[in-house]
Amino acid sequence: KGPDPDLVAIAERMATVKHKILVLSGKGGVGKSTFSAQLAFALAAMDFQVGLLDIDICGPSIPKMLGLEGQEIHQSNLGWSPVYVESNLGVMSIGFMLPHPDEAVVWRGPRKNSLIKQFLKDVYWGELDFLVVDAPPGTSDEHISIVQYLDATGIDGAIIVTTPQQVSLIDVRKEVSFCKKVGVKVLGVVENMSGLSQPVMDFKFLRITETGEQRDATEWVTEYVREKAPELLNMIAFSEVFDSSGGGAEKMSKEMGVPFLGKIPLDPKLCKAAEDGRSCFTGPNCGLSAAALKRIIEKY
Ligand code: ADP
Repeated sequence: KGPDPDLVAIAERMATVKHKILVLSGKGGVGKSTFSAQLAFALAAMDFQVGLLDIDICGPSIPKMLGLEGQEIHQSNLGWSPVYVESNLGVMSIGFMLPHPDEAVVWRGPRKNSLIKQFLKDVYWGELDFLVVDAPPGTSDEHISIVQYLDATGIDGAIIVTTPQQVSLIDVRKEVSFCKKVGVKVLGVVENMSGLSQPVMDFKFLRITETGEQRDATEWVTEYVREKAPELLNMIAFSEVFDSSGGGAEKMSKEMGVPFLGKIPLDPKLCKAAEDGRSCFTGPNCGLSAAALKRIIEKY
């Protein structure tokens, strides 16, 4: 029996892609897609040629996150063309193929796998420095498939995104063990939503606990602070949000012998950037998370 023609076709497509990075998470909602999108933006800003591939069939959030909802995929004689958000950043999402974004996709494994295969085989990326793959949460059929399909073409490794909570950390262990089993290198673990961090003056309301009275911070606090504690005007507040007494992802990474890439705080500006479908690295409103993300990306 000769080589699988699909795998041959995938290898041909991937021959023009230098680096392939999988972004994984044990659970949904931890910020995997946000991280994938921002990683792609950051690499593109460094003048690399970047592709972002979203294969989360049951919950593709990349189109919404990049303001690309309703986009249709164009086909040329070279294959399916990605949607370009920057001249050097092309995006391809399973979401573009689904007719109704509000409808649940109830597909069994084989159908999902064949779509993933088709994506890898038929999307024309051209020359790419990086292909960032936003995988579905967990370790399911789709993960085994993508690794299997890309294995021969060389995967750089996986970045695992988690929150500091135990429930999420436990699943990271599963992701790490999955990577070990299928022979994918763990590039590192990122702890997202690691505390809340924002300039003191960005808090919109202060509630006076005893009376339950709520005051508009912009007026009252600014006035009060200017008079009584002007140094607060430039301060950044940080709060833990989740209990991290267990040492969080950093300790766990150490225990599992995988690199810890860093922490990204909950940042309203990052959330807004994702809602608006843009990079959090650009513009005057670049939040605190951007600095954290930059450190992580430089580390990688
Ligand atoms: P996942 O891909 O893991 O399901 P998402 O990337 O869709 O998670 O993130 C879930 C929600 O949390 C999104 O609305 C996103 O904007 C928000 N979010 C993710 N990370 C942060 C962060 N560090 N600060 C603020 N909001 C965040």
